[in-house]
Amino acid sequence: MQSLTISKEQLQSMIAYVGSHAPLESCGLLAGHDSKVEKIFFVQNQAQSPVRYVMDPIEQLNAFEWIDSNGMDLLGIFHSHPAGPETVSPTDIAEAAYAVTYVILARVDGEWHARGFWIENGGFREVILQVT
Ligand SMILES: [Zn+2]
Repeated sequence: MQSLTISKEQLQSMIAYVGSHAPLESCGLLAGHDSKVEKIFFVQNQAQSPVRYVMDPIEQLNAFEWIDSNGMDLLGIFHSHPAGPETVSPTDIAEAAYAVTYVILARVDGEWHARGFWIENGGFREVILQVT
C-alpha cells in the first residue's frame, strides 16, 4: 500500500480518542475499501500502558467479524505514542502481525501528528496519509 486515504473528520476523531486516553497508549482498527478508510473501531488497550498496546481480543474479534460481514477490508491499525516518537518502535516492528498500514499518532510538543507505515521483514517504510 502506497497511501491511505482518511477524512479530516476521521483523523480528528482518532486524535480526540487518543488524546482522551493519554498518557496511556490507545489503539484501534481502520476498515474500508481500496485504501479509503470508511470505518474506525476504537479498541480498548488491554495493556493499560504508556509505552505499549495490546488490543482487547474480544473487541478485536468483533470488529473483524463486522468488517467481514460488511464486505470491507482491514486497512490499518492505529495506536498512539503519547510521548512520541513519530515513528514505529522496535516493539511495533516485532509485533506487527498484519499486512496493513500501521498509523501512529504521536504527541510531540503538545501536538498530535499522524503518520502511516508499512512494516514487514523487520523493517518499515512510510505510507502517505492522504487527508481529504
Ligand atoms: Zn508503537
